Amino acid sequence: MVYCKNCGKEVADGAVICPNCGVQISALKGEQKEKSPTLAALLSLLIVGVGQFYNGDWLKGFGFMVASVFCALIFFPLVVVVWVAAMADAYLTAQKKNEEIS
Ligand SMILES: [Zn+2]
Repeated sequence: MVYCKNCGKEVADGAVICPNCGVQISALKGEQKEKSPTLAALLSLLIVGVGQFYNGDWLKGFGFMVASVFCALIFFPLVVVVWVAAMADAYLTAQKKNEEIS
């Protein structure tokens, strides 16, 4: 959740205009590309860590990859945990990056 700078009310993530006071919260910059949280999560679903690469988090992406391989060697069901965590992280990070852009 983000807060409107004008009235302080909670506004949905990614909202451009505050539904409460109608003030523009974030200007979408044309030159910086928005990340798609869905695409980021989807990429991490296909290959663990790739969603992080998409977000530009190379270290984190490698971390998730190594962690998933590690988990696969120790106790395979753990991979699912890493997998879901990587997907959730990719999704949330993409959202956060979008907020930073705007
Ligand atoms: Zn407002």
